[in-house]
Amino acid sequence: MALRIGIDLGGTKIEGIVLESGREVTRLRVPTPRDDYEATLAAIVSVVSELESRTRGTATVGVGIPGTISPSTGFVKNANSVWLIGRPLVDDLSSWLGRPVRIANDANCFAISEATDGAAAGAPVVFGVIIGTGTGGGIVVRGEPIAGANAIAGEWGHNPLPWPDADDEPAPECYCGKRGCIETYLSGPALVTDHRRRSGSTDSVPQIIVRAANGDSDAVKTVDRYISRAARALAAVINTLDPDVIVVGGGLSNIDAIYERVPARQAWRFERGPRRRLVMA
Ligand SMILES: [Zn+2]
Repeated sequence: MALRIGIDLGGTKIEGIVLESGREVTRLRVPTPRDDYEATLAAIVSVVSELESRTRGTATVGVGIPGTISPSTGFVKNANSVWLIGRPLVDDLSSWLGRPVRIANDANCFAISEATDGAAAGAPVVFGVIIGTGTGGGIVVRGEPIAGANAIAGEWGHNPLPWPDADDEPAPECYCGKRGCIETYLSGPALVTDHRRRSGSTDSVPQIIVRAANGDSDAVKTVDRYISRAARALAAVINTLDPDVIVVGGGLSNIDAIYERVPARQAWRFERGPRRRLVMA
């Protein structure tokens, strides 16, 4: 039976999974060698090698990346893992692995997965969001991913944060060259930085969430700012796409307050229809 390897190339970790007839056989996670393109290639090759030695077979390989392949140049663009930008990742990985490799935006992969048999299964219009090291998005309409003419459809993370207020100043700088992108407020590193700037605390995301749940006032305020920003950022997507389901994945999707409080914010309630759902992957 044909084996398929799917690789999630993240800014923090690289995770590979082997599927046989759509069922998971085994998986493996290794840290991402940040800021080193060659080492990233080598890490992906080692994950594929280890998975294939476990399963004693040769697999097809598909990779989801936190960016996209430019349809005009074939090179990586718009990647928050900036060491991938401008690199011929499809050609290099195909060469290193000795087989054709398919690469797609990770949020598009996530959205099609959730729309097919996940938290948004069967919904006609799905907006999939990955909030982790970066803030990506993907659109699926009636089971088909919408990549867009320049392969950037759904990339809400580099729109400006809507309706900024004094709490949002000064607008953080983004790797893309702009200031105040949604990603600079909603990504994991952004949450940590925002909390540190206001409280002096160097807590990680999980620590901030635990402290907020325990009533720590600085952490509560940080989560309040985060929820307000997430609600405003998603409201702009809703006004454009009006999805049936917004499904949230990535490391920050574990923040329960997103599902409890974002739909209750005015920006969301104003636009909320009876059929829309905000769900965790
Ligand atoms: Zn940006």
